[in-house]
Amino acid sequence: MKILKSIADVRTFGKVAAGSVGFVPTMGALHQGHLSLVERSRNETDLTIVSIYVNPTQFNNQNDLANYPDTLTLDLQMLEAAGVSAVFMPTYELLYPDNFAYEVDEKQFSRELCGANRPGHFTGVLTVVMKLLNIVKPQKAYFGEKDFQQLSLVKGMVEAFFLETEIIGCPIIREDDGLAMSSRNLNLTSCDRGKSPLFNKLLSNAMLSDEEIQTRLDLAGFEVDYVVTKDGRRFGAVVMGDDAGPVRLIDNVEVVS
Ligand code: AMP
Repeated sequence: MKILKSIADVRTFGKVAAGSVGFVPTMGALHQGHLSLVERSRNETDLTIVSIYVNPTQFNNQNDLANYPDTLTLDLQMLEAAGVSAVFMPTYELLYPDNFAYEVDEKQFSRELCGANRPGHFTGVLTVVMKLLNIVKPQKAYFGEKDFQQLSLVKGMVEAFFLETEIIGCPIIREDDGLAMSSRNLNLTSCDRGKSPLFNKLLSNAMLSDEEIQTRLDLAGFEVDYVVTKDGRRFGAVVMGDDAGPVRLIDNVEVVS
């Protein structure tokens, strides 16, 4: 497995290695959710490139960025074992030579759900994804439905800017108790980890309205950002933990009517 650190490294790797390229962008602290994307890419393309980069421009809370888990040594072992061809590990200086003077902004859906209380979050996401797609130039790129709004905005961006990569959405991988796997789960206290499956359980309860779910989550001690049903899906975001170590969890489920 090659470690790629410069744009020239990535471009040379792409040129020398024959065949189609599948790309899986991540922020590291990898788990089975990430590996499911890698496996899909391995099945559908000749070479899989994974990026590991904790993108500061998508964090609107500095505590969240500072506390973001980092398990790089383990990540690299997992990716090597999963048969990844190369890992791209850029720096801020490499990705943002303009110091974020240029950005990709979507003006509608990015202002809803996770974007309503996290101004600029999706602008940071779309900008870094645009940069990564332009550097790697993959035939296919894989994104998880856990971040359904992100997946939908990335698909929209690719269409709007006529990018040549096909964006593939992959199902949510969950723990046995229903909690969606997430790097941030590593930061849950054992008490909050014990409570956390209630989030998915309530979101999946078709008998309850969004408001009823919100009330039950409040009563159970979750700080609710939103519970919203839209286009046949119920989306939710909550924060657990305290101000020193807040842990944001998001999830979504299909609504069966
Ligand atoms: P992240 O490292 O959290 O930015 O995630 C990198 C990619 O993995 C994104 O496309 C996520 O949607 C996807 N992902 C994260 N968690 C899961 C999960 N539990 N199931 C499926 N995909 C996931």
